[in-house]
Parts: sequence; structure tokens; C-alpha cells
Amino acid sequence: MLDDYSNIELLDEMFEGVYFVDLNRVITFWNKGAEEITGFSAEEVIGKNCYDNILEHVDQSGKQLCITGCPLHQTTQDGIIRKANIFLRHKAGHRVPVSIKTIPLYKDEKIIGSAEFMVITPLLVNIEDEAEKYKSLALKDHLTGLPNRRYTETYLDLKMKEYKTFNIPFGIAFIDVDHFKVVNDTYGHDVGDEVLKMLARTYVNSTRGNDLIGRWGGEEFLAVFTNCQEKVLFSLVNKIRMLVESSRLIVSDTELRVTISIGATMVKPDDTIESMIKRADSLMYKSKEDGRNRCTVE
Ligand code: GH3
Ligand code: MG
Ligand code: MG
Repeated sequence: MLDDYSNIELLDEMFEGVYFVDLNRVITFWNKGAEEITGFSAEEVIGKNCYDNILEHVDQSGKQLCITGCPLHQTTQDGIIRKANIFLRHKAGHRVPVSIKTIPLYKDEKIIGSAEFMVITPLLVNIEDEAEKYKSLALKDHLTGLPNRRYTETYLDLKMKEYKTFNIPFGIAFIDVDHFKVVNDTYGHDVGDEVLKMLARTYVNSTRGNDLIGRWGGEEFLAVFTNCQEKVLFSLVNKIRMLVESSRLIVSDTELRVTISIGATMVKPDDTIESMIKRADSLMYKSKEDGRNRCTVE
């Protein structure tokens, strides 16, 4: 199939990620952009099935697309060009938001496969850049690159002032990794640290531009959702939970997965920062008691 495309070198130099699949969903081409975005090299994926445990596309709500709703496969079947905003799984395990476009590939007026073009979806505000600004003030967590507790507290203070002055609502979520001691005990503290870094990448990629997730301490993180309505809080935190559940870290041939328990709550009229955090923390413990890998929102 490669021989059918005389401009293939041009595709290789493109900034966008591009790959081709044939009628059997076997990957036949994988450009440098695709290597850059996904972490997988062409040698690793060419000849494999795209649904074979490689990118594992999920949609905005965390639903797996590979089996039922793969836009690339649908395009191969009906020739219709599709666009979608989805998340793929990077080779390192974390989730990456990408905008994709799928187009059919023809030979002699017959569809012989399809191509997917992908670019990383820009976030409105890159939290890491935001935290970067405060580096000199030591407001960035060194391990994960996320805002540290001090910065998160300052940010919460600002949100509380906005709420009391302008009545702009916000929500927070307390996040704790499930059975993290077991990860440390089984794989060692360094691997535990790598898991925390992977989680941080997934968090940054799974939140909206104006949201913030900081490292609160150890394996606990605090998310702040700006101008958030109560009815969307559950879907926001559940999306984070699902993206973590479907991420993984590759540790010498083993795939290491972790889950998180979340407690989330909206600001209420008499709240102080302390009362809000206490409530979110109790709700997180309720998620633990109820079996972990879940969100409790109240
Ligand atoms: P649970 O599901 O109840 O939360 O179980 P857990 O094992 O995660 O329990 P807990 O939250 O109490 O344990 C936190 C563990 O996280 C203990 C500590 O060794 C580990 N930890 C805290 N900070 C770090 C860190 O920076 N790196 C690593 N590798 N481990 C950490
Ligand atoms: Mg903990
Ligand atoms: Mg824990």
C-alpha cells in the first residue's frame, strides 16, 4: 500500500501525526508526527492492528472507541470524512487530547483503507506554564511539575474571594491514589514516583483550561474547577477518574495501573476554604469505603 503514495516522504515531514490502516485495520503507515505525539515508533506499530492495545482512543466521556465507535474504521466502511476530539494513550501510559480527522483512501475508485490525521488539542491555559511563572517563588511541585500546595492554597483563596464578591461558583475535588502503599512496596519508591508523574500528566490533559490540579501532598491532589455548576461537577471528576483508570505505566514488560478515589463538592454560602476541603476529604473517604475507584459528589 505504501507504494501507492508517491508523496509519502512529504507526509513524513508533516508536523501533524498521520497514519494509515488497510481494510483489515492493519497499520500500514506511521509518520514522524505520529511518533512524536504517541511515543510509538513506526517499527513498533506497522503491521499491527490499530485496535491491538496501541492507542486505545477514548472520547471526552472516557468511553473506549476502539471496539464500537472507531471513527477511522467507520470511514473505511462508508467513505465519510470524520472529525473528533478524543484522547489517545501515549506509549508512556498517560492520556493525550488530540483533534483527529479521518479520510478514506481510494485505489481504482475502491476504498482500500483510511488515514487519520491528528494534532494535540491546545489547552486554553497550560497549567504547567502557569506554575512555571511561580517557579522562583517555589510554587511548583518538583516531582510532578504541578502547582504545589502553597500555590493551590493561594489559588483557592482567590476563588473564594471571587465567590464572596461576585458570586462566581466553583467546585473542588480531593483526589487520593488507591492502595498506593502496595505500589511502593511491590515496585519500589522510584516507580511510585513515576506513577505520580504519569498521574500529573493525565490530570493536566484531562482538565479544562481554567481548571487547576495541584499536588496537595504525597499521593493526594486537589482540583479546583472554576465557574463550575453543580450539575457538571460529577462528569468533570468522573472523566478524570476514567482517564486515570485507562492510563498505565510500563515497568519492564509489566503494565502498571492505578485507580483514584475522589470526593468533590461545590462551594456553599457559609464555606471557608477549610470547611470546603474538610467536606471534600470526607467525601473522598466515603469513596474509599464504598470500594475505591469512584467519585462521591455532594
Ligand atoms: P488508600 O487506598 O486507602 O488510599 O491506600 P494507600 O496505600 O494509598 O494509603 P495512603 O493514602 O494512606 O498511603 C499513602 C502512601 O503514599 C504512603 C506513602 O508511602 C506513599 N507516598 C506518599 N508520598 C509519596 C511520594 O512522593 N512518592 C512515593 N513513591 N510514594 C509516596
Ligand atoms: Mg493518602
Ligand atoms: Mg492513597
